[in-house]
Amino acid sequence: MANILVTGGAGYIGSHTCLEILNAGHSVIVLDNLSNSSEEALLRVQELTAKSLTFVEGDIRDASALDQVFAAHQIDAVIHFAGLKAVGESQQIPLTYFDNNIAGSISLVQAMERAEVFHLVFSSSATVYGESNPSPYQENMPLGMPTNNYGYTKLIVEQMLEKLSLADERWSIALLRYFNPIGAHKSGRIGEDPQGIPNNLMPFITQVAVGRREKLSIFGQDYATQDGTCERDYIHVVDLAKAHLLALDHRLKSKGCRAWNIGTGQPISVLQMKNTFEKVNDRKIPFEFVERRFGDLASFYADSTRAQTELGWIAKYSLEDMLVDSWNWQKQNPEGYKK
Ligand code: NAD
Ligand code: UDP
Repeated sequence: MANILVTGGAGYIGSHTCLEILNAGHSVIVLDNLSNSSEEALLRVQELTAKSLTFVEGDIRDASALDQVFAAHQIDAVIHFAGLKAVGESQQIPLTYFDNNIAGSISLVQAMERAEVFHLVFSSSATVYGESNPSPYQENMPLGMPTNNYGYTKLIVEQMLEKLSLADERWSIALLRYFNPIGAHKSGRIGEDPQGIPNNLMPFITQVAVGRREKLSIFGQDYATQDGTCERDYIHVVDLAKAHLLALDHRLKSKGCRAWNIGTGQPISVLQMKNTFEKVNDRKIPFEFVERRFGDLASFYADSTRAQTELGWIAKYSLEDMLVDSWNWQKQNPEGYKK
């Protein structure tokens, strides 16, 4: 039983992870500035688990807020989700992204050092492999240059954490490189609730299905893939959440900095996503083909052998499960947490 500080715990992946941590018998303290989330998600996590957590509204860039959290709770480890994630926005306001994601992570790690807490799980992304590595991506491939500023912040923070662990052997850090998380908790009570027009494919499809958007725009149909549309490796958010618990257990027992890919290893095209969604949920998704989106790679997917062998992690949910669960969440919550 450990006390876990979860930064960004009110968000999409954070809320699902808080649920798994509580169910595993740990205590959870969430620090979130609610810039892209709602406290309602945390109320629902507590309702689903019948357990309580501590919520602190605050910013990871606020050193005194962090110090207060560490002083008030005997934190054993930190799972760090807090950050901004909209790729397009990161091209328009890079400084805001550098500040939240890079300066925010530095501020967090400094506060951890002051409090002598040295176990950290960081939300990284497949984007750190850059443009030229072939799929399936393996953790020991040289990292590349991400195609956008959001990805760049992940690369910088990864490298910074690695150097930190080399300089000070008290650190034990997990870099989890997520592929494309989708889906929702089976209950449909928590899920992804993007603000404004969704950037990502899955919430766009479910918002079309629920009538909030007219049609899906498919970005590009002339990629060198099975059907001309881009391929990604979609992973159920509950499988992803469970990977955090396993990474935490692993890190509590070892030192250094280690990266793990968290994906299923299956490349799925945009058309396959649309068609499978229609089939398993019996909903039509009107669509049109439009121009390619800037910065998109044609195809990438994970080799997650390392997570399987070292963490004992395996993706349990199928694509069909992911699409049924995403729709279950959206139809129960057409306007997200706003009700
Ligand atoms: P999300 O936006 O739902 O969650 C992020 C949370 O962090 C939000 O609750 C937000 O309010 C909070 N936050 C943002 N800046 C903060 C700050 N300065 N201080 C305190 N709280 C702050 O996003 P998510 O999809 O749950 O992603 C979680 C993490 O995983 C992010 O770091 C993201 O970059 C990373 N990631 C996400 C994906 C994805 O496709 N969703 C893929 C790879 C990596
Ligand atoms: N995509 C699309 N229409 C949309 C959103 C996304 O065709 O409205 C495509 C996008 O080009 C990519 C795939 O769906 O090939 C997954 O996009 P997402 O933004 O969800 O993930 P990422 O590209 O960041 O891996």
